Amino acid sequence: MKFATKVIHAGIEPDATSGAIMTPIFQTSTYVQDAPGVHKGFEYARTHNPTRHTLQNQLAALENGKYGICFASGLAATDAIAKLFNSGDHIISCNDLYGGTYRIFTKVFGKFGMDFSFVDMTNIVNIENAITAKTKLIWIETPTNPMLSIVDIEAVCALAKKHNLLVCVDNTFASPYLQTPLDLGADIVVHSATKYLGGHSDVIHGAVIVKDKTLAEQLYFLQNACGAVPGPQDCFLILRGIKTLHIRVQRACENAAKIAAFLQSHPKIASVNYPGIPTHKGYDIAKRQMRDFGAMISFSLKDDSIEAANKILSSTALFSLAESLGGVESLIGHPATMTHASIPLAERLKTGVVDSLIRLSVGIEDVEDLIEDLKNAIG
Ligand SMILES: *Cc1c(COP(=O)(O)O)cnc(C)c1O
Repeated sequence: MKFATKVIHAGIEPDATSGAIMTPIFQTSTYVQDAPGVHKGFEYARTHNPTRHTLQNQLAALENGKYGICFASGLAATDAIAKLFNSGDHIISCNDLYGGTYRIFTKVFGKFGMDFSFVDMTNIVNIENAITAKTKLIWIETPTNPMLSIVDIEAVCALAKKHNLLVCVDNTFASPYLQTPLDLGADIVVHSATKYLGGHSDVIHGAVIVKDKTLAEQLYFLQNACGAVPGPQDCFLILRGIKTLHIRVQRACENAAKIAAFLQSHPKIASVNYPGIPTHKGYDIAKRQMRDFGAMISFSLKDDSIEAANKILSSTALFSLAESLGGVESLIGHPATMTHASIPLAERLKTGVVDSLIRLSVGIEDVEDLIEDLKNAIG
């Protein structure tokens, strides 16, 4: 089944009791049993919920996995993955990592004796050098935030297999429409479904997708044992969002390519980070492992100051100044003072997050209007 058919049909059956074509919101905490232990497969809603069950099956299909496990947020999903490991275990991750992932790794799991290394994964030698006898997992994010670097998933997976390590890919920025890491050798895919999967900036949700039955059993155990489950209405909203995932992401990518070209040609702009630009360091890898180049862009100004950035950030009319990404509407943000404010200045500059760096999440509005908006704001 091709992707555009999967988003509509994979894992989805009409409701058995009513024939409802849309998966109902099963807003219930418990299920009546015919006799003690005799039931329809549902006992208590932390453990099982039919709306969540359908979404889990759909997500497994979209990522070419076998099992989907849903959580209350992307970070709750990350929390469950980290809990697969033990005190003393070592995880290698990117230096250009989602801030919340960095925070839960270092401030929460660090406290329980887990160890983390953050390396530039665009050079695989850095990963190899970080592997120790305690290493258990390589955690990839690609494209990265906010520099839009590309990590070669297949190459990292080959290295991981050699050392008997698991690989997890945070696929939030790409979405399964653009990239399916399990096909490239990854063991675990994690999503903040809050972003492209939901797609309408109206829900917080997370998911993990795996192929391996043992890993799935451990994750279902953690989902039930720790209890960070999503509500059925949130699952419904993700199911609804997914139905147009391919169309939304496709349009957003088309818009982003045109906006990147406009920014490149602007005299006030110093550099544009977008994997679809042929001179981008990760262009060839992105071309190989992604269906298109995504809809996230970042750029810096020749006048590299917070003031110059602020002028643009406060002048756009269509691009809303907000954190998050992946919705139908275009957003603009300032990593240095917003998402990356807690990172020490020297660290921040080292990864390229300069004072004037501006990040765009390109939506699906008319691209000419979006370019006009940026033209007016940049001046
Ligand atoms: C937003 C985000 C997360 C965290 O997800 P929440 O749903 O906000 O908990 C994790 N990874 C990436 C890349 C994100 O953009």
